[in-house]
Amino acid sequence: MQKSFIEIPAGHPFPLYNLPYGVFDYQGQTSIGVAIGDYVLNLSLLEEKGLLKVAELKGKKVFNQPTLNTFLEMGKPCWSAVRKFLMHFLASDTSDLRDNPALQKELLIPQQQVTMKMPVHVGGYTDFYSSLEHATNLGKMFRDPENPLLPNWKYIPVGYDGRASAIVVSGTKIKRPNGQLKIGDDAPICALTRQFDTEIELGFVVGTGNELGCPISINQAADHIFGAVILLDWSARDIQRWEYVPLGPFLGKNFGTTISPWIVTMEALAPFSTPGPVQDPKPLPYLSHQNTNFDIDLHLQIKTPKMDLYQEIAHTNYKYMYWDIAQQVAHHTVNGCNLRAGDILGTGTISGSTSDSYGSLIELTWGGQNPIHLDSGESRVYLEDSDSMQVVAFAKRDDLTIGFGCAEATVF
Ligand code: MN
Repeated sequence: MQKSFIEIPAGHPFPLYNLPYGVFDYQGQTSIGVAIGDYVLNLSLLEEKGLLKVAELKGKKVFNQPTLNTFLEMGKPCWSAVRKFLMHFLASDTSDLRDNPALQKELLIPQQQVTMKMPVHVGGYTDFYSSLEHATNLGKMFRDPENPLLPNWKYIPVGYDGRASAIVVSGTKIKRPNGQLKIGDDAPICALTRQFDTEIELGFVVGTGNELGCPISINQAADHIFGAVILLDWSARDIQRWEYVPLGPFLGKNFGTTISPWIVTMEALAPFSTPGPVQDPKPLPYLSHQNTNFDIDLHLQIKTPKMDLYQEIAHTNYKYMYWDIAQQVAHHTVNGCNLRAGDILGTGTISGSTSDSYGSLIELTWGGQNPIHLDSGESRVYLEDSDSMQVVAFAKRDDLTIGFGCAEATVF
């Protein structure tokens, strides 16, 4: 594995091989960069100086932009060419930057000194429901323990249109929402949620979209995706339970969604791909292919005001998902719906089959019946004010590790 001239310890989330993209503020300026070790390489400045020598970008300004959307619209061959250039530019045997300390000082900024921003302008947000384990667990709790899956679930990658404007970058506080709650047989009331939860997901970021009326075929679908982030789908379970029939989630979900700031590219994720579970019944032809997931570990951690450090309460893995990202894209567009650069497709809660691999508090506490006991002596069923949640994600294979960094937020 090729190494960078920048010293990066083994197991670091951002080795030369990863190069995730983000948008950051530094000294009053907003720039686009890639993470490399503990630094950000400033691509906006690299482009401005004419040092980004990629044929596809000639005469274009894709990194002197407030978000990554312009670069995303360039498409896969361009993303690939830029990745190839950057891997070479930062490699230990390339001297251009390695032997130029003045240029290093300009282009490489310690991550500690930057403030991360939303990496893309999100025009559309869709959240799927693609974990068989999660759908089964919620079906048991919300509907029918004997028959938890609705008849459509194994035919349709079920999803709903979420609220793009409420997606915020990691670190942004999330406010406890008001809404209609119906408790027992009482008439509904409007009050603050008493069941403040979150769902661990990945968010896939659309690179190139499609024209309205022109579906994306299953075989082309993966090429339209630029990369992925960690996504926390904040959920008010009591609001959700009362409102969700018949049109699905609405105010129980659209008060906030957190994403991690660094977009890990599909190219970086490629070595971690793994066949998805057997799909029976066989999906309809427009969804039919070898379903493929990625072996990505996700760790859910909580911190209360009494705790100094985060404590892990669950860990799960994206490889368990029933419907894969290509099937989600093919399904989303089969009617001609148009995806656009910067759209985010949430995978749905990523739950495994064991009770320590569930991706939400409602599952981990089984609807509130089994409180989580923390090292601080406290216990939690749902989130209390000033609690913080964090998800950290890594992919590992042989001697290669890449990370997503983290998505975290405090509720208030
Ligand atoms: Mn969700």
